[in-house]
Amino acid sequence: TRCLSDWSSDVCSSDLENADMENHSYTNTGNLALVSPLQAHGTVVPTAPENLGPRVLELSSILQTTLDIENQINLFGKEIQRYLSIDGLVYTPPGSEQKMIYGREASHRATYDLKLEQTSLGGVRVYREIPFADKEITALENLLCALVYPLRNALTYKHAVELASRDPLTGVHNRMALSSSLQREVDLAQRQELPLSMLVIDIDHFKSFNDEHGHTFGDDVLVAVSQTIANTVRRSDLLFRYGGEEFVVMASHTGEQGAMLLAERIRENVSALQTVRGRSINVTVSVGVARLQEKEPAEAFFERADKALYSAKRNGRNRSLLG
Ligand code: GH3
Ligand code: MG
Ligand code: MG
Repeated sequence: TRCLSDWSSDVCSSDLENADMENHSYTNTGNLALVSPLQAHGTVVPTAPENLGPRVLELSSILQTTLDIENQINLFGKEIQRYLSIDGLVYTPPGSEQKMIYGREASHRATYDLKLEQTSLGGVRVYREIPFADKEITALENLLCALVYPLRNALTYKHAVELASRDPLTGVHNRMALSSSLQREVDLAQRQELPLSMLVIDIDHFKSFNDEHGHTFGDDVLVAVSQTIANTVRRSDLLFRYGGEEFVVMASHTGEQGAMLLAERIRENVSALQTVRGRSINVTVSVGVARLQEKEPAEAFFERADKALYSAKRNGRNRSLLG
């Protein structure tokens, strides 16, 4: 078990690839690695210097008070200033382009890939106007050791929450996610006085796909329809699989007209689906549409869209209706 570390600190902020590298060797600590992206080999092993050791533990306990990654990064940026002055800090989660920024960028930087037992925990870049001295880099690396375990826990938690809110078949948000999102979106729309609309979508005569071609083919149809809906809505719209063959779209900043247009586009795109897994199909959906009214509770809003859906069904299916 080792705490590995390389660092890069460059004078020219625009030319990281050519940054001078220096390695620092220390003795063993925990089972974690801080590996610079610029250096695949020649990892070195740091440990907290005597004076920083208790501080690292203390910092680690502070970071463990939250499982929110952004909070953790902000806390880390703030807390390390007690031992090391920095201008800013940027964290990039693994497999993500989205950066979390504390403070601001500056001319000099030290860059790290955080790793724990071969699992990437993302990248940290620490910025400063004044060059880092060797002993400051040592301190920084030891302080980073305090971040690794709390960050791993926060990433694991985020992943678990993400998994729990997704429907495993279609990959879209599930009913549990709808319950929390619905209230949040309603609160937001009412506070900002912006329009919010909801579409409740149900596949017509879906039972017949199962009955005629088997449950597995029924699943394939569900995936194809959910993908068609996902490809039709805007990136800012939220899509949920509400029940077996029922979907909900929450369209923010969208009034009746926009919502009806969207419903019709979804209806048309679904009915334009011709084959699923090489089998020709004829699939349609009915859509109930509602726009959030002033002071309307979330449940009433949903029920209005759901009622409109049932009217669309009664009126012959393959249609959209405003509630
Ligand atoms: P309607 O036009 O009135 O909506 O008719 P329908 O057949 O679509 O509605 P109904 O509620 O009678 O049937 C829904 C069917 O969806 C019954 C159920 O077996 C099927 N179903 C629900 N979840 C799944 C699933 O995950 N996979 C598959 N293959 N079928 C499912
Ligand atoms: Mg149905
Ligand atoms: Mg149904």
